[in-house]
Amino acid sequence: MKFFFPDAHDLVDPSFDFVSERRTFSGSRQQAQLYAHEILSEPPYDGMLLSKAMIDPHLGSKSVRYSFAQVQRLKRVGVREFLRLDRPGLKRQIASMGDCGSFSYVNEAEPPYGVEAVAQFYMDCQFDYGISLDHVILGFRDASVKKSDVPPDWRRRFQITLSKAEDFIKLQRQEHLPFKPIGAAQGWSSESYRDAVKNLQMMGYDYIALGGMVPLKTPEILASLEAIREVRKPSTKLHLLGISRLENLDAFEDAGVYSFDSTSPLKRAFMDDRDNYHSLERTYTAVRIPQVDGNAQLKKLILAGVVDFGAARKLELACFEGVLEFDKGKLGIESLLERLREYELVWHGKKDDAVRYRETLEDKPWKRCRCAICQKLGIHVVLFRGAERNRRRGFHNLYVLRQRLDRLPAKEKGKT
Ligand SMILES: [Zn+2]
Repeated sequence: MKFFFPDAHDLVDPSFDFVSERRTFSGSRQQAQLYAHEILSEPPYDGMLLSKAMIDPHLGSKSVRYSFAQVQRLKRVGVREFLRLDRPGLKRQIASMGDCGSFSYVNEAEPPYGVEAVAQFYMDCQFDYGISLDHVILGFRDASVKKSDVPPDWRRRFQITLSKAEDFIKLQRQEHLPFKPIGAAQGWSSESYRDAVKNLQMMGYDYIALGGMVPLKTPEILASLEAIREVRKPSTKLHLLGISRLENLDAFEDAGVYSFDSTSPLKRAFMDDRDNYHSLERTYTAVRIPQVDGNAQLKKLILAGVVDFGAARKLELACFEGVLEFDKGKLGIESLLERLREYELVWHGKKDDAVRYRETLEDKPWKRCRCAICQKLGIHVVLFRGAERNRRRGFHNLYVLRQRLDRLPAKEKGKT
């Protein structure tokens, strides 16, 4: 299966020093910092996906990450040069895919722009693949749902998505637009996804993206894929848009999925309570040593007079220095865990992560990982502390996902 990574300006600063925690470079972040495919020796993904929601301030959406100047440059040089997808020496070709960012306008009655504007965005960025304009259906019912129980708005969105897909492929063909069109399917049940795929195939699509999958659980996705199997032509490729659960990759591949995109491995590094550092065998909890002046919860407690800034800072530094000493064999695990616990009581209340921290620190999974991040950072990669470490741990997770994908049994059989 091919893995596309959605771009959201996830970059790391190569000038960041992990001991002094200072950076020496200041300037254009996007141009001086590194993407995952630049810092790892091999790109962890087969492609990058860029959503119109990332760049379009008219959507008024919180997801916009590109400044006006960056959008101008993106349109001038194209997405390949902007995201530096053709860096010399890359061992894997990175494809580019555009999508219209329908989750950013899910609450609107209609998509805020037309098929022409979406096609223009794909042309401006010079994407390899462009997904048709869609309108997300936020809800899922099992196959037993009666037709009369389906909200009229869901049917309306289903129809909007199909009619936009039809306009989109017509436009692409008439104007000989140079990107490969992908038809977006929306549905509220396995059967409606199947019907959408059937319709899109009739329009001429042989690459179909299943949207609205973000909130769906794995069994719901698998049920939809099973239903689609009844109508899918052997030549039709399926893409899963924005899936968050990646436990059943082999089941997805068996069900005919050709590609998917997900930010989950990156986000779990710093948004999950426990599963922050991934390995092929299991996940580990990163050791949290929040910076006193960078942690919202601590700031609140300090402002409220519950926590003394100086005392908290002292504990923070004792933990940070403790980890470095532990790494050099100069501090035992019990003393380190005690320090971590003392600090945790200040900022994390009753929560006790000691058991999981012990596993991480004793197992030392970073020593076994061969990715460029773990090799360079060592123990810092498992510290939940500041964006430079947390994002790099996310990049490491992308590397592990790549390994999982490369090991899928179906792939060995030459299925993909
Ligand atoms: Zn690693």
